[in-house]
Amino acid sequence: MSVKLKVDSDSCLGCGLCFGSYPTAFGEDSDGKAIVIGELDEATAEEAIANCPAGAITK
Ligand code: SF4
Repeated sequence: MSVKLKVDSDSCLGCGLCFGSYPTAFGEDSDGKAIVIGELDEATAEEAIANCPAGAITK
């Protein structure tokens, strides 16, 4: 099952980890913060959530 995640742009540090690692699901806005552009499978979504250093990615 695919999951569309959410990014809290106030919390996002703009570290680039999510859009660097999962370019089909995340992009970068003009402020260098992550935006959601697509979906991830369940396991990869959990990985993206766990790897965000700011805890900015949620389901
Ligand atoms: S991994 Fe987290 S802090 Fe880094 S760009 Fe993505 S949402 Fe922002």
